Amino acid sequence: MNRSFHPLPTLLLALCGLGAAAPAQAESFLVHSQEEYTAASKRVQAGDTIILANGTWEDFEVRFTGEGTADRPITLTAEEKGRVVLSGQSNLRLSGRHLVVSGLVFRNGHTATSEVVAFRTNKENLAFHSRVTEVVIDGFNNPERSETDFWVVMYGQHNRFDHNYLAGKSNNGVTMAVRLDSADSLENHHRIDHNFFGHRPVLGSNGGETLRIGTSRYSLEDSFTVVENNYFERCDGEVEIISSKSGGNVFRGNVFFESRGTLTLRHGNDNLVENNVFFGNGVDHTGGIRVINKRQTVRNNYLEGLTGSRFGSALTIMNGVPDSPINRYHQVEGALVRNNTLIDSEHIHLAAGSDAERSAVPIDSRFLENLVFNNDGRDPFSVFDDISGIEFDGNVANPVDAPALETGFRRSPVKLERSDSGLLYPVGDAFADIGVPRGLPVLSRNQTGPAWFTKPAQRREFGSGETRPVPDRADLARAVAGAGPGDVLQLTGRHYLAEKVLVIDKPLTLKAADGVRPVIEFERNTLFEIADGGSLRLEGLRISGGSAPDVAGNTLLRTSRYSMLNNYRLHLVDVEVVDLNVNHSFNVLTVSRSTFADEILIEDSTFQNVTGAVLELNRETDDLGLYNAEYVTVRNSEFEDIGEALMVVYRGGTDESTFGPHVLVSDNQLHRIGLSTRNRAGASMLLHGAQQTRIFGNRFEDSRGILIEHTVGEPRTRIEGNAFIGTPAPEVSGDPATVLDNTLAPGRDS
Ligand code: CA
Repeated sequence: MNRSFHPLPTLLLALCGLGAAAPAQAESFLVHSQEEYTAASKRVQAGDTIILANGTWEDFEVRFTGEGTADRPITLTAEEKGRVVLSGQSNLRLSGRHLVVSGLVFRNGHTATSEVVAFRTNKENLAFHSRVTEVVIDGFNNPERSETDFWVVMYGQHNRFDHNYLAGKSNNGVTMAVRLDSADSLENHHRIDHNFFGHRPVLGSNGGETLRIGTSRYSLEDSFTVVENNYFERCDGEVEIISSKSGGNVFRGNVFFESRGTLTLRHGNDNLVENNVFFGNGVDHTGGIRVINKRQTVRNNYLEGLTGSRFGSALTIMNGVPDSPINRYHQVEGALVRNNTLIDSEHIHLAAGSDAERSAVPIDSRFLENLVFNNDGRDPFSVFDDISGIEFDGNVANPVDAPALETGFRRSPVKLERSDSGLLYPVGDAFADIGVPRGLPVLSRNQTGPAWFTKPAQRREFGSGETRPVPDRADLARAVAGAGPGDVLQLTGRHYLAEKVLVIDKPLTLKAADGVRPVIEFERNTLFEIADGGSLRLEGLRISGGSAPDVAGNTLLRTSRYSMLNNYRLHLVDVEVVDLNVNHSFNVLTVSRSTFADEILIEDSTFQNVTGAVLELNRETDDLGLYNAEYVTVRNSEFEDIGEALMVVYRGGTDESTFGPHVLVSDNQLHRIGLSTRNRAGASMLLHGAQQTRIFGNRFEDSRGILIEHTVGEPRTRIEGNAFIGTPAPEVSGDPATVLDNTLAPGRDS
């Protein structure tokens, strides 16, 4: 007997409560090291089990192979589920038949290969009739945000991925993919069920899908993958939550909670989308279902509170490209959209994407017995081309003045009430056959993921922790280091001097106590550095750069110089910033590449004598669709003598996979902005590739102009009600959707 591991009789294990009923000769191997695992893995036969001992397994690349049978699978599991952690450069590959893996946790590391869990050991050896269940992959990210890897990839056929927890994927690459890249992976009949797909933060480029099935290349093949009863919570990576790129798939009974983007039937035919529930709760860019290709069925889906538009609408039926190449848009033909309920959702777009290339309108399609109701009375429908190829019948919608669709709708007020399951239904049975059926099951969060794993609470908000007073002249670095996530450092004194860079690695607020306006000065070239995991809110403070070193390129705030996996938030509210001018190019915020802000907010604040820029968000210069911030908002603030730009925002590239950047600048007073000879932007604001821009109610005086470069997507820019005094008019270059209406009279005082 090999003494490096411990085969235990099944009977003994059964007595210990670890084994299941199995034939007497089945063996269990409890292993404590990678060497013991390797030895055991060479011996396992049908019915056997390998048990990883509790603890942390560092740099463990698990290869799990074997030939089990339906009655006697080969199992790899944990001594106690959840207490076996694979960290460092670890991953799992399995191939063979009737294999089961359960109970493992991937945390504190990343895969050195391109996959964390792969249903194959190499191109020749795939998994069949195998199952991965109750596995946790938690923030198991390559530390370099732009490096691509996938967390789970299914190959082979008849495999199941169920009751797993996947959350926090922050680097490039889809969270989970089903591949159809060989004959043995076609018509695979995989099941993906009862998984919890947790928060996937905005990636800020293409490649942030949560689930992709197939690729355009094999998209006319059938996959027959069933995606059932999964929970998608804030899966915000990019415009596609799910990208179905193959035929014969079923998406049933899933919940999409506050997830930006849509379930997209991107390529492939004969897919079924039914009994799903979408709750947008009014969150930006929450969408529903996008229909492309032939014979797609969309029925009994419930969609509420979705704000998305264009390709991200609650429901989108696309135009196609005549004789489309495999990777473009195939015409919609034979679609059935029936008995869906769409409530308080802003947009339903039909023949969407119609243009010179996408000219093939939907044909032979039906839109029947849907309930479309908006309490605010607005009409969600927009029609972009000939939709005579869609038959509308038996639908009910709220009355509107000039409906986009005339026939096939009964226009009626509908009184709605919320059922115990959380869905809104018409009161009474007048509309019983319209919309989703009564009693549509709504999956709950706790029906998904491993039963033993407690899903973490939502993110820590500013101010969610304790309030900690910081007395006059106290050591700020110590106070910052000692605070917990969500804490508020309440500055009760009048003066603070930071001798060290204050490194912010958790959500933290620095706030003036009532009745004081504390002054912070700093002696290093940076006051605050936002590190990975950090977010910062400053409130009621005065910050002076007067004690900063006399060198070029100081900055009040900076991000980590290294790739940051966690998106950050930065709030400056009621803050006075003065004298960032001891040398040239002294910025308020300087970012590094591979960092991404979910939100930057400047509000009710003043800035005086800054030799550099206020917000320099232009470090992703490879034109690959990356950028540095999703929402940039500056309002009700005053800026005076800012040498470089108020903001530079750069989003290069030509893909349309992102919703942002969004820029809002309103009700500010700006004097002498951007006049420094070092202002390479040549403007007071330079926005390149921003998707949504609103600039209104501002007064620009003796400043450089605003330059806006539309480069990709359908950018929307509104510049209204501003005064430009001694300042050139805004210049907008590139494509459409611009409103330039500066009605505020020059010289008007406000
Ligand atoms: Ca995509």
